[in-house]
Amino acid sequence: MDNLPGMAYRCRYDPHWTMLFVSQGCARLTGYEPEDLINNRVASYASLMDDGDSERIVAEVQAALDKDESFSLEYALTRQDGSRIWVWERGRGVEEEDGSVVLEGIVLDISDRKTLENELEELATRDPLTELFNRREMSRVLEEELERARRYQRPMAVLWVDFDHFKDVNDTFGHAAGDSVLRSISRLLLGSVRSVDTIGRFGGEEFVIVLPEMDLEEARETAERLRRRVADEPQPLGNGQTVPLTISVGIAVYPDHGQTASALCAAADTAMYLAKERGRNCVAMAHLHDRVHNQ
Ligand code: GH3
Ligand code: MG
Ligand code: MG
Repeated sequence: MDNLPGMAYRCRYDPHWTMLFVSQGCARLTGYEPEDLINNRVASYASLMDDGDSERIVAEVQAALDKDESFSLEYALTRQDGSRIWVWERGRGVEEEDGSVVLEGIVLDISDRKTLENELEELATRDPLTELFNRREMSRVLEEELERARRYQRPMAVLWVDFDHFKDVNDTFGHAAGDSVLRSISRLLLGSVRSVDTIGRFGGEEFVIVLPEMDLEEARETAERLRRRVADEPQPLGNGQTVPLTISVGIAVYPDHGQTASALCAAADTAMYLAKERGRNCVAMAHLHDRVHNQ
């Protein structure tokens, strides 16, 4: 996922917005290198703004400074190549030792509001490392699928996946290698399920998979297939080397093992620990009697 073009700045509170510091993002945002804007060497930041805007912007900044509050601004900028962008700026006044006031803040390109909205949505629902759904989004999907299964009286399975001895991978090859394995197995799992299935990263190296329309036997077959695929394929460490890794999978099925999302998750999690106890690299079905405890 690409970040929004943006930069951090520190500038004098003067008519030129004389920049004292701008971050590297400046080049992508404005087309100017940071050193071109600093001290107005090639262009002043104010010269990138529309002439008619400056009065309004200064008034808004001054009002915020008077109240000792931060300011938020929206205005157009003309980039070095002549293209125009819309930016959002947030900043505040900072008093220097000599009593003068400088402004500090960030400027973000918000030209494509849809892009902004989409990126915020992605940030809110995706785990940045694996790009799978995060725990919150996964919980939402699980509730939604459960509601559907309940309404149409259909089965639905929840798989709880945990890597075996993953700590050893980090300890032996380093955290970055562990991250590479996390990404690789995420892709592998995603490529091994149907398009109606959903995979989320629930925590460190724990994944939850929701499988609509799957009964006990189909869920067991799917879990077994995933286990085998991971075991059969050495995982890249990101340095050209690979490492073998296995997963343990717990299975819980609606309505057999629980009626609610939390009951199903608890049953699948408990089953996953059963798989660990059985020696790892295996799948385990929740016990039917768990139902009594978990409902
Ligand atoms: P077990 O077979 O019992 O599950 O052994 P394990 O080593 O996998 O044990 P456990 O599940 O308790 O440990 C998970 C490890 O996953 C601990 C932590 O260092 C690692 N981990 C969690 N999140 C991340 C991550 O985002 N990146 C990396 N590289 N490691 C992570
Ligand atoms: Mg583990
Ligand atoms: Mg774990």
